[in-house]
Amino acid sequence: LLNPIHKINMFIESYPKGMAGFKRYIDFIETEPEIADRVNAKEVNHVEGEVIFDNVSFGYTEDKRALHNINLTVRPGETVALVGPSGAGKSTICSLLPRFYEVNEGSIKIDGIDIRDIKLHSLRSHIGIVQQDVFLFDGTIRENIAYGNLNASEEDIWHAAKRAQLEEVIRALPEGMDTLIGERGVKLSGGQKQRLSIARIFLKNPKILILDEATSALDTETEKAIQEALNELAVGRTTLVIAHRLATIKDADRIVVVSKKGIVEEGTHEELMNSQKVYYGLYTAQFGLQL
Ligand code: ATP
Repeated sequence: LLNPIHKINMFIESYPKGMAGFKRYIDFIETEPEIADRVNAKEVNHVEGEVIFDNVSFGYTEDKRALHNINLTVRPGETVALVGPSGAGKSTICSLLPRFYEVNEGSIKIDGIDIRDIKLHSLRSHIGIVQQDVFLFDGTIRENIAYGNLNASEEDIWHAAKRAQLEEVIRALPEGMDTLIGERGVKLSGGQKQRLSIARIFLKNPKILILDEATSALDTETEKAIQEALNELAVGRTTLVIAHRLATIKDADRIVVVSKKGIVEEGTHEELMNSQKVYYGLYTAQFGLQL
């Protein structure tokens, strides 16, 4: 089974128009249960980005709940980090927002509108996802950044690449934006792929962001570049970070501790450290007592 958040990214964007990338999308689409639009579902052209999970419960199967009564309000532009042990449901919470799965009980609202009342493609146009495994298709760097967005101008694409700290990398390649990547082209490093996915999101410019934080170690310089790009990406966007390494989310506006029982604690890093409960335990386990 693929991690839910991993799968979403395959669907969240409109698929690229180039045939090379098309086949892989079809493979995924055909294996997915369809989530249909409600009869009266509408297009929502602009969102402020307030996200509310109202008493949400969800199970992948009928007999086992992965989430119990999740209540969470994220203000427009706020960055909320989800932390907690493996299997607590962090990815699941995030995968319900673009309606990769439907809630069993409760509701999720964006700007007060139940997400089931928004057309799926419209809902997903407001959500960007950055994760460790980046989906690239056989094509040029330009096509991979534009990712099916036929309206993107050359200037927009370069601007997105620059903000994702990818400009120098592209300029250093003999064929620049025209360089082929993917199975038949240049292999990008893990860090470069991540920045490419960040460039895509800059170009898409959604109000809501889901960051599935990388767990694998990148070299320090690459990690710094990516962290800077992500910090810039999060500005002015409602951001949910699935955090594995607590050091990177210390500055989040709010940290929410998820356990199998639900949300057990929330606050800023300082508040949670001072209260010396679950987060304090997770943090000191990762970093010892050097706070
Ligand atoms: P991690 O930190 O390891 O990524 P997490 O907190 O993100 O964990 P989830 O991946 O959301 O946790 O998993 C929550 C629960 O749902 C777990 O019990 C997990 O086994 C289960 N689960 C996750 N994805 C699926 C799936 N596609 N099908 C069935 N069960 C799943």
